[in-house]
Amino acid sequence: MTVLESPAVMAAGAYISEIFASFQGEGPRAGQRHMFVRFAGCNMRCVYCDTEYSLTRVPVCQVEYPDGSSRTLPNPVDIRTLSTIVAEFCAADPAIAMISLTGGEPMVQREFIARWLEEFSPAVPCLLETNAVIPEGLDELLEHIEVVSADIKLPSNSGESPQWESHEEFLRVCTSRPAVETYVKVPVDAGTDADELARAVRLVRSHGPDIRIFLQPIDDRSGYISDGSDAYLDAFLRELPGSASDIGISPQLHKLAGVR
Ligand code: SF4
Repeated sequence: MTVLESPAVMAAGAYISEIFASFQGEGPRAGQRHMFVRFAGCNMRCVYCDTEYSLTRVPVCQVEYPDGSSRTLPNPVDIRTLSTIVAEFCAADPAIAMISLTGGEPMVQREFIARWLEEFSPAVPCLLETNAVIPEGLDELLEHIEVVSADIKLPSNSGESPQWESHEEFLRVCTSRPAVETYVKVPVDAGTDADELARAVRLVRSHGPDIRIFLQPIDDRSGYISDGSDAYLDAFLRELPGSASDIGISPQLHKLAGVR
């Protein structure tokens, strides 16, 4: 860990790539109006990543307000500034139902987020969108989080090394807090290893039969899901362990709808 990455320094300010309001496009809250705080920097490099501009600590944060105005802020953004912006968004757009803390990977900057939410209570609940491979510091952060959207990263389509142990521990911490709603998204495509997918389902089910699972078809970054998607999704659902009746298909609706 470098001096610049020490918890004390990271807690003083956050690297954020963009802040905006739009419609949640994924999971059980798809269609809800959310405010998005996209943290810059990620510990993974998935080949299907559609937020490559947020994988490193960018120098400025782009803010697009609900009224269409915009501004840029130098990074890192301090607690007071972020709190002011969040309050402004919620006041200007009463339809905002949640604040999605996304990335990049927000858990990389968990010390900042925990300190920020200790000092500031947003008007609406927070949803943590995460790759679910950094369990360190999660329990403390969940004091301030109402919903966790946890990805399971499969090596056969992410191009990353297996993360089973990290996912296991992450889900264990999430489910140790019954007040926190946790659901799981699993990006899939025609090249996904069916055994890996089955292992992911077993892993999730071992932590709670009620955790909702969404298979998220990987698109070509323009929102287009390739031919044959129906066939492979159907095959996956038929081959999964146990009942697949509570496993949903969740394409990224914001891309299909042509919104951000
Ligand atoms: S974890 Fe998410 S943000 Fe990071 S590389 Fe993978 S898809 Fe992109």
